[in-house]
Amino acid sequence: MKVRRAKKPKALKEPKKHTPTFLLELPLMVNQGQAKHVGAHLEAARQLYNALLGEAKSRMQRMRADPRWQEASAIPRSQKQERQVAFSSLRKAYGFSEYALHDYAKKARCTWIAVHVDAMMAQTLATRAYRAVNQVCLGKARRVRFKSKGRGLDSVENKWTQSGLRFVLQKPQEGHAGFLLWKEDRLGALIDWDDPVVKYGLDHPIKFARLIRRQASSPRAQGADCAGYRYFVQLALEGVPYHKPKHTVGTDTIGLDLGPSTIAVVPREGKAELRPFCEDLRPKGKQRHRLERTLDRQRRANNPDHYDEQGRPKKRGKQAPPWKNSRGYLKTRRRLANQERKIAAHRKSLHGQRVHELMKIGNQIRVEKISYTGWQKQFGRSVGRNAPGMFIELLKRTVARTGGTLVEIPTRTTKLSQFCHGCGQTAKKPLWQRWHECQCGIGPVQRDLYSAFLVAYLNAADDHPSRARYESYWESAEPRLRAAREDTEQRAKEGQILPRSIGIPGARARLPKRLEASRQELVYRRGRLEALDRRQEPPVL
Ligand SMILES: [Zn+2]
Repeated sequence: MKVRRAKKPKALKEPKKHTPTFLLELPLMVNQGQAKHVGAHLEAARQLYNALLGEAKSRMQRMRADPRWQEASAIPRSQKQERQVAFSSLRKAYGFSEYALHDYAKKARCTWIAVHVDAMMAQTLATRAYRAVNQVCLGKARRVRFKSKGRGLDSVENKWTQSGLRFVLQKPQEGHAGFLLWKEDRLGALIDWDDPVVKYGLDHPIKFARLIRRQASSPRAQGADCAGYRYFVQLALEGVPYHKPKHTVGTDTIGLDLGPSTIAVVPREGKAELRPFCEDLRPKGKQRHRLERTLDRQRRANNPDHYDEQGRPKKRGKQAPPWKNSRGYLKTRRRLANQERKIAAHRKSLHGQRVHELMKIGNQIRVEKISYTGWQKQFGRSVGRNAPGMFIELLKRTVARTGGTLVEIPTRTTKLSQFCHGCGQTAKKPLWQRWHECQCGIGPVQRDLYSAFLVAYLNAADDHPSRARYESYWESAEPRLRAAREDTEQRAKEGQILPRSIGIPGARARLPKRLEASRQELVYRRGRLEALDRRQEPPVL
């Protein structure tokens, strides 16, 4: 059934308005037959996506092989406009743009694929493929991933709500139920009208809907279909997300120092704090690690021919035999995926909690600008688990929504972590030195707390730290920093395990009064555990 719409004359078309968007996710009730249909649609979408990805990739490769590409890259970055003209003409010549790929999607969506995927959805897939390849083109990603049949494509979205995949909501007198429509199926959504977040979201206009398929821990898990999938609808809604009344917004200015596994919070007036960051994720991370090891053992046991006598994976040519996956292996893989999902969800909620705690103190935030990708190399494990970059992004969004500011202070010019406000000198501190104590009489003070204090009193990104600025503030801040340290020590005494980077050794250990003593102890620990420890300490900033 085709509906022909009258084309609007171009002059009457309103310019595109950019409105804020927020998301609401609802679980879907999908029966056996519907699951089968959805699976078929998703499989068609997967194949179309791979085709689009392949086309975009080859267009990019042809474009980069052109000698003009080398010429364009040779234009110095200072000549911005010339550079841009050169690159955009190349993109045009090789059809490497979002809209050119939309055109290609029109052709690629033929015969049987067209039965499953409508034109709008094909466009969204083309956009997605283009973005993935463009990341490679811009040097932000190394390669693109084609979606394999085994893993499949797990989300599809639409662009509007007038046809294809869309969400419809009944009026209250009709039953107030919501359905996701896709082709001939009507998938019922579970709506809890008593939940203020859901109620608030559904009161807003819908921009488009996205269907998401997630693997459950097993086919017998609650709400899963026979293949072990759960389905959700994600609605993109117009407006700003719900703000719970319990989350109040303060007015203080806060200095933050984020380490791979710690966070130091020093407000200008309120209580200072030094806390482990995302500590609750640690046990889940351990479980994941065990599953990863099980998976590796199973993979090796199933495919002994793929490894040499020393257990190293062999190089694989085109004719190499396929990998064998046992049922146990598949089960472990599923459990691992589930564990990852749980960790991600838990992390998100911990980040959210911490952001709200900070907002309660104030929404003027100062933080040192850090390259989290650089951290990833040095502290892979804790950065992977705690995702500090994601935390800062969330903080930025929330701060902007509440009308506050988040200033990122560049580290290279200010050198805050090396600065001492007592004498105004900068001195590099090695990683293991967790305490700031200067001959001029400042300290000992925990290093992260000290740099959070320094950053709290800088206003703009181009500010430079100076002695005069801090002298008056130090008097009021020092007792607060000491209190934060004592608070942390108290936690250690009560048996809470703290990251070693805090510089307070484990439970019931007494803190040395003088720096010399603490240095000795740290050196001793390091002598014993050097290889082990290196990855867990925060960097020299
Ligand atoms: Zn000093």
